[in-house]
Amino acid sequence: MECLMMNGKGNFKNNIGWCFDNTYSTLPDAMLSKLAPVPVKSPKLVILNKELSKELDLNFSSLNKDELAAMFAGNILPEGSESIAQAYAGHQFGHFTILGDGRAIIIGEHLTKNKKRFDIQFKGSGLTPYSRNADGRAALSPMLREYIISESIHALNIPTTRSLAVVTTGESVMRETLLPGAILTRVASSHMRVGTFQYAAMLNNKKLLRNLINYAIDRHYSYLKGKDNLALELLKAVIQKQAQLVTDWMRVGFVHGVMNTDNMTISGETIDYGPCAFMDSYDPQTVFSSIDLQGRYAYFNQPGITKWNLSRFAESLISLIDEKEDRAIEIANEEIDNFSEIYKKNWFQMMKNKIGLFGDVDQDENLITDLLKWMHKNNADYTNTFCSLMEKDIKKEKLFEDSNFIDWNKRWNNRLGKNKKPIESSLSLMRSNNPLVIPRNHKVEECLKLASYQGDLKPMHNLIKYLKKPYEKQLGISDFQDVPKSNGNTYKTFCGT
Ligand code: AMP
Ligand code: MG
Repeated sequence: MECLMMNGKGNFKNNIGWCFDNTYSTLPDAMLSKLAPVPVKSPKLVILNKELSKELDLNFSSLNKDELAAMFAGNILPEGSESIAQAYAGHQFGHFTILGDGRAIIIGEHLTKNKKRFDIQFKGSGLTPYSRNADGRAALSPMLREYIISESIHALNIPTTRSLAVVTTGESVMRETLLPGAILTRVASSHMRVGTFQYAAMLNNKKLLRNLINYAIDRHYSYLKGKDNLALELLKAVIQKQAQLVTDWMRVGFVHGVMNTDNMTISGETIDYGPCAFMDSYDPQTVFSSIDLQGRYAYFNQPGITKWNLSRFAESLISLIDEKEDRAIEIANEEIDNFSEIYKKNWFQMMKNKIGLFGDVDQDENLITDLLKWMHKNNADYTNTFCSLMEKDIKKEKLFEDSNFIDWNKRWNNRLGKNKKPIESSLSLMRSNNPLVIPRNHKVEECLKLASYQGDLKPMHNLIKYLKKPYEKQLGISDFQDVPKSNGNTYKTFCGT
């Protein structure tokens, strides 16, 4: 493979296919620190994502187990890598904080054969200048959890960072108890966040901010190059991307759990799988994170929080939107106000897809909200209700014998008749929008326990197998569709990762 370097630095041939072309490290020093991952004692490979390796044009078959583990632990860095930790800030639960990669190192930007660019990052790679009082490390179970859920989100056709590998370090990390340490290899179209721009804005350096805007446009929105007001164009583009992303989360019942501005990407990819989880029975107020006591990041607050975060993004760009601050604020506000309209339109279309509606008919919105209200009142499982609607005959379950559901079902069938399309078209629309399987919290927990405490990886691999094809009927799938016996939404997730 010919590996062309955009920045003209280095040139290497290797039999894995690494093709590093590191551009972020050419940004001003204020935005990053150059340093290597801290080597670990005795790394062991736990899981390697063969499919993703292929998509990245990487082939690890020439490496033995020890070499693979050493590479994914950062003990030996591939040629061409120039490792960095990024500086950023962020509003965490509404409070501005200076952050940065406290336990992650980007080893470089890898180019695929067709020149797609990906950050390769080790998460849990040791102390950095941004570690504050923490240890720079990660524990095995949360890293496997990120692997499972991010790969599931990808299979659900939702933009996300991906997971290439997890290794254990042979060292322990102290959380509530001692836990096995691990490193996750995260792959992202970039790690630029709203918080990256907040950090640059805080430094009050217009040149740096302009530099960063140009860089983000080059990397993610190159079709905007040459436009007049790049700061404004970037804002508009990110508003569109994030409105789509949060619509997708709402579609599958995903609760991100920690939508701080440092956890919101400029690319529109889902990032940071700490306390996230999927909703079981439909309840708009669903919160899983044990520290989110006010429900700031509850399921139904996610669009509003997206807007709030985008306002922080707009604020950080103000000095470059217009020279006159008043005018800049006015322009930015107009764009932020548009978010609500964009989201509402997205959401409505998404919900219509979920129940197989084509065209616009009066009362469509009522039909949708009445179903959601009914689901809420009856503790109906979010995912499985839509699965049932896709069955030829609605399941003979007590839940669906409810007279309110029977009425709704009549109204729905009546409306389907107005689609002016065969029923098969509705079904196929529904099938591509309603997953049959999601990472059920009790299933994920069960697999993580076996993987981290007993070294039994089989159940995890099996779960991942089903999650890879969430829209397809698979033999034995029902075991992964079962809802927990107790109310699943009382499940708690923890940040101490
Ligand atoms: P998160 O809640 O994962 O988005 O992390 C927020 C910030 O805390 C980021 O700057 C992380 O790099 C940092 N951080 C989280 N865990 C650790 C850790 N164990 N050691 C050092 N920094 C950490
Ligand atoms: Mg984060």
